[in-house]
Amino acid sequence: MKKYWFYIESYVYISQKKDKVLLYNTLDGKLLEFNDKETLKIITRLKKSSNHQIINLIESEIKQPKIKKFISILKQHYMGDLYDSSLTKMKPIQLLPYLKIHNDVKFLLKNENELIGNHILENLYEITIYLANTCDTECDICNDGYKQFICCNKRFNNSDIDLNELWHTFYQLKNQPVNINIIGNIKSINDILDRYNPNDFSFMSFSWYTHVLNIPDNFELIKRFNNLNVSVIISNPSDEKCVDKLKFILKNDFKLKFYFIIQSDDSLNQANDLIHKLNISDYVFQPFYNGSNYDFFMSNVFNSKKDIQNHKVSFKDILINEKININYFGRLIITNTGDIFTSFYNKKIGSIKDDIKSVILKELKENTNWRTLRRDYIPCKSCTYNLLCPPISNIEKALKKNNLCTIL
Ligand code: SF4
Ligand code: SF4
Repeated sequence: MKKYWFYIESYVYISQKKDKVLLYNTLDGKLLEFNDKETLKIITRLKKSSNHQIINLIESEIKQPKIKKFISILKQHYMGDLYDSSLTKMKPIQLLPYLKIHNDVKFLLKNENELIGNHILENLYEITIYLANTCDTECDICNDGYKQFICCNKRFNNSDIDLNELWHTFYQLKNQPVNINIIGNIKSINDILDRYNPNDFSFMSFSWYTHVLNIPDNFELIKRFNNLNVSVIISNPSDEKCVDKLKFILKNDFKLKFYFIIQSDDSLNQANDLIHKLNISDYVFQPFYNGSNYDFFMSNVFNSKKDIQNHKVSFKDILINEKININYFGRLIITNTGDIFTSFYNKKIGSIKDDIKSVILKELKENTNWRTLRRDYIPCKSCTYNLLCPPISNIEKALKKNNLCTIL
């Protein structure tokens, strides 16, 4: 009986859960789903690690209607094919993608010596620092916004951060390309500026996050800070004071990024009007869950199957989602009291007094957050889309729901 080699291309990602299989073409985003027994059996064989997505099929198998249809669909989308096995003496070789990232946590934890040197610092990309923040403004996002995204908060106005400790942390990182986000009012920023020498931290980049209403009228103060990116939070785009302030700051030649906090369809429309009116180009819409806008999230934030299909994901993204959570990995938060977190929804993992390497090692070992993988959580663990969906974020934690989708 005639035999064939049947293969699925190495750029096709295969996800199989119980009675469903998903094939995703990482080159063009084409997504195919099958749930018949015959196809599932073939996929199980293809997925066996020693098979490298290539198996032998005999003529009678190929003639089975379901298998025949499956092969034909794959051929049509350039995702797989078969050829006469008599054309090759040996089984063809296919190399499947594998991501070797320096922060492959399992590898590092098995080789702790690797971690003792500076390698461990390579796992750190970003530190968000909350300085003391006295504020006379009243925003409805103040109580919870900072837990969901980078945002100022009155909770952090009780004490100043210990600048000696902070500088000690900076010096430990001075040769690392770490992004430092600073949140605080202009007084706290000035305290930093008084000590800051750009030559000491040439690898670091600094961003200041501030509410639009707390931007000082005297921009010269901020110009002292070399290479400072300014991120401006706008919680109420219909507020006249906010519009006036925006007009004022847009006149200045600064690297400004605007974060519009969106809680409803109305706030989305108001933000869009303002962006259009003031010709704002660098902006982000940041949804905020306020406890009573679940319906807004359902219609505007939750992903549908179509959204997932339309959002192209590379093989590299899939492999990264398999190992780490890019929303959290490499990111630490330091509060004005010196506590270190990976998210305000998780327990504290250290203190500014600790050696920063020991804090990173603790997170890598205990995994409070950096490796919060969708595939470990219900219901996503049983969903074939779990490496295609964006990783779990603080929004899921605020909503106490792991799947922000309309699929399961
Ligand atoms: S400006 Fe920031 S700190 Fe002040 S009330 Fe608004 S959110 Fe809170
Ligand atoms: S959010 Fe979870 S359940 Fe929803 S599609 Fe993604 S992986 Fe599946």
